[in-house]
Amino acid sequence: MFEKILIANRGEIALRIQRACREMGIKTVAVHSEADAEAKYVKLADESVCIGPAPSSQSYLHVPAIISAAEVTDAQAIHPGYGFLSENADFSERCEKSGFVFIGPRAETIRLMGDKVSAKNAMKKAGVPVVPGVDGALPDDPAEIMRIAKFIGYPVIIKASGGGGGRGMRVVHTEAALLNAVTMTRTEAQAAFNNPMVYMEKFLENPRHIEIQILADQHGNAVFLGERDCSMQRRHQKIIEEAPAPLLNTKLRDKIGERCAEACRKINYRGAGTFEFLYENDEFYFIEMNTRVQVEHPVTEMITGIDIVQQQIRIAAGEKLPFRQKDIQLRGHAVECRINAEHPYTFVPSPGRITNWHVPGGPGIRVDSHVYNNYFIPPYYDSMIGKIIAYGDTRDQAIARMRTALSEMVVEGINTNIPLHQELMNDAAFVRGATSIHYLEHKLAEKSKGK
Ligand code: ADP
Repeated sequence: MFEKILIANRGEIALRIQRACREMGIKTVAVHSEADAEAKYVKLADESVCIGPAPSSQSYLHVPAIISAAEVTDAQAIHPGYGFLSENADFSERCEKSGFVFIGPRAETIRLMGDKVSAKNAMKKAGVPVVPGVDGALPDDPAEIMRIAKFIGYPVIIKASGGGGGRGMRVVHTEAALLNAVTMTRTEAQAAFNNPMVYMEKFLENPRHIEIQILADQHGNAVFLGERDCSMQRRHQKIIEEAPAPLLNTKLRDKIGERCAEACRKINYRGAGTFEFLYENDEFYFIEMNTRVQVEHPVTEMITGIDIVQQQIRIAAGEKLPFRQKDIQLRGHAVECRINAEHPYTFVPSPGRITNWHVPGGPGIRVDSHVYNNYFIPPYYDSMIGKIIAYGDTRDQAIARMRTALSEMVVEGINTNIPLHQELMNDAAFVRGATSIHYLEHKLAEKSKGK
């Protein structure tokens, strides 16, 4: 096992990885920007290195600074967390070439799955159903683009092949709007992801977002840890996740889960990963794979009892998975609310000083957050400041516990989306379960009309 791991990330996930390391007796190195010098995980780490000024391009994305930090501290492995460099194949290659273990899949796997067009093709080949569309990127010829859209049938969605984080997507309802939308998405994709390639698929009108968590070791073993439902989204970004997915055909889930595990064995996948699907009328359609730990991994941890971050570390160190598919038992239900520093209804970010901070507790409540009283939320990074996870024997119990937790939580000095979460935990359709990915958008639109 490693003696020392460098954590190439910030925020709650930096603390989460640090906790996993400490439990395993592994020393940690925190790297941080000037804006994060006062962060809790920086103070709790065995060593810390400042890698640059606040903007992430000069710190958390600055590969040479991170590699030198690993060199001077004698770290043996680098955990990239999520976001930042976690799905950057060049970074994983640089780590390995410099003699550090990258805690994640091989560079070639990240490359294959990081490009959504090649990922879709690979999954199709592996027998996993994909969202109806055409194979490959869109051509330049306008007539050809119009022909493809007609063939797929409106509405369609134009997506950036290199996209992520809910950005680089545009829905098109009519032929008149098509070419303009393609051009705009291309320009955006070039600016945001340095890759103008876009593709087109059918825009599904009533799907749920259901994803399968997998773990694969370096000895050809792969298992799936059930599924998560992440349909409650704003701007194509998740805000509530739960496991298991309510009212799902579990036979079908097991079949698709086994296909995902099998696909991992086929491509020699290594580490934790997530296959994301849209699910409509009892059919799963693959949309993309994330080759890293995800924000919502705790709900799976709660119902399986498996520490996903520790497993990532063990797999990277060459250990065999300590369980087989038949050993994976799903028990109870878990719901996660992402707490964002933002206006609950307009989503305008709200960085600044937290003047009062109290977290909830009690049976079944887990809070993953790096924030503390008087903490200053820097304006440079993602608006998520923590996550509340509620576990119960049943979904109703998990939701009831979440309601109590949200009512106990105190965050003053900034705006948060806690009022929205409170509303959703009492929303009749959410409580029934199985709402679609468009539900929140429609609900908020109705609400603003009513005002
Ligand atoms: P990202 O990598 O930016 O997260 P994804 O491909 O995972 O992008 O899509 C994010 C979200 O966008 C999905 O969870 C879903 O809500 C919406 N979406 C993506 N593709 C489609 C589609 N074909 N039809 C309807 N909604 C879609």
